[in-house]
Amino acid sequence: MDKQDHNILNEIAGKCFARYLGYVSLEEFMVRATSFTAALSDDTIRDLRLSESAQLIASEEQITSYTAALAVITGVWLPEPLDPDIGEVFSREKLIAMYRSGSKFLTAEYACVIKGENRRKQIACQLSEEDGQICGTFLIFDLTDEYSRKMTVMKMAEYDGLTQLLNKQSCESHVEEFLSSAPEQECILMIMDIDFFKRFNDQYGHDVGDIVLQAAARTLEKFFGRDSIIGRTGGDEFLVLLKHRTPEEAEEEIGQFCRERHFVERGSKAYTFTFSVGYSVSPSQGTTLAELSTKADMALYNVKMHHRNNFIRYSPEMLMQKRTQLGFNLSDIVSGIPGAILVYKADEKEEILFANEQLYALFECDSMDELLDFSGDSFKFIVHPDDIERVEKSITRQISSNKFGLDYVTYRIITKTGRIKVVDDIGHLVHTPSYGDIFYVFLYDHEQKNKILRKAGVVE
Ligand code: GH3
Ligand code: MG
Repeated sequence: MDKQDHNILNEIAGKCFARYLGYVSLEEFMVRATSFTAALSDDTIRDLRLSESAQLIASEEQITSYTAALAVITGVWLPEPLDPDIGEVFSREKLIAMYRSGSKFLTAEYACVIKGENRRKQIACQLSEEDGQICGTFLIFDLTDEYSRKMTVMKMAEYDGLTQLLNKQSCESHVEEFLSSAPEQECILMIMDIDFFKRFNDQYGHDVGDIVLQAAARTLEKFFGRDSIIGRTGGDEFLVLLKHRTPEEAEEEIGQFCRERHFVERGSKAYTFTFSVGYSVSPSQGTTLAELSTKADMALYNVKMHHRNNFIRYSPEMLMQKRTQLGFNLSDIVSGIPGAILVYKADEKEEILFANEQLYALFECDSMDELLDFSGDSFKFIVHPDDIERVEKSITRQISSNKFGLDYVTYRIITKTGRIKVVDDIGHLVHTPSYGDIFYVFLYDHEQKNKILRKAGVVE
């Protein structure tokens, strides 16, 4: 390739670059750039052309040497964490040393403030030797629009559009990076999920659900924003890594967070929401994201199994219960099961641990809270007072006489509106290491069940 071809190619590259930055021509790009040549050894300057924005901060008469030119640049320079120190890397001494070591081209991006406006610039320098002098040809041009476009794309790739928190991928990679950079540091990994979130969507619409998610994100930032990584890792699920905290300090913060009443107002209505939180502790319970999140998830599952709106630290004796099987989560499974489910402790108090939506519908209640208020938190109060003694005796007799711990009883219940219904109860007594003896119960409205069976042609 001869010299002429080379020059043409350089011009084409220059034109393409100018177009890429949004200029109509290379000429327009050059008019808006600052350029000059400097003899670095004796600190002189020639062929200086200031861009419009450079003229706002200096005049050509002022810039009589390379040192003066660099002083104008560093005078408006805005140090950013990842940017080089422009004054240092473009100093005469550094450039001369660079040329002597065989490098001839240097470029860097930097931020600056011109007349109160934040700008992004690029400075490029080609070094050469003329008559024994080391010279530099410099070009400084504006990259502000290009940079903000790049930042927007990067932000879109890193953040969740709805809540503006880190998205799952970027949150997890930040956590992994932190854990591997400081494996000995004490920190806490929390996984949290909004309780009964689906109801906001179902009862008030998706818009309200979205508002609750945004409010939840702001709440997390308010409580845990200091020295942490916060991300939205699923629909209503969030991950928070609390850095540099002992478990005791973190527990104090999480406790305060769970006790606070969180709400968001829209129009005249306030929507209250609560969180369930499971957490694990590094390094004692794991040093990788995989270990810590599996454990925090298990702890979260345990909170959901109890009354929600609470927090639990992972402990090794927790039941290993898989939250997701074949892509279903627990809520999907229990809401899809055609029957009411009740889980309660098989002790004196018979405290209710879990009920699905069909169960509170059976009692004509709108929520778990309403059911618990109404039933006094115990299986005893679910059964009609005239039937409870017989029912308890019958259950005890049956489970002691069959090795499967199964029982079948029929009794009356009183719904919230005072209606009496007859229900069929199939119970299963299970011993669990974490909660002791637990009854898992299926309840069917007797009349409704028979209607369905008749319709299906199963019974006459
Ligand atoms: P639980 O207490 O067991 O967590 O009950 P839940 O109702 O909160 O159940 P779950 O966590 O499984 O529900 C998450 C729901 O979030 C399911 C999905 O329809 C909804 N969802 C997911 N992404 C969005 C979103 O971006 N906006 C809205 N409004 N809803 C979403
Ligand atoms: Mg939820």
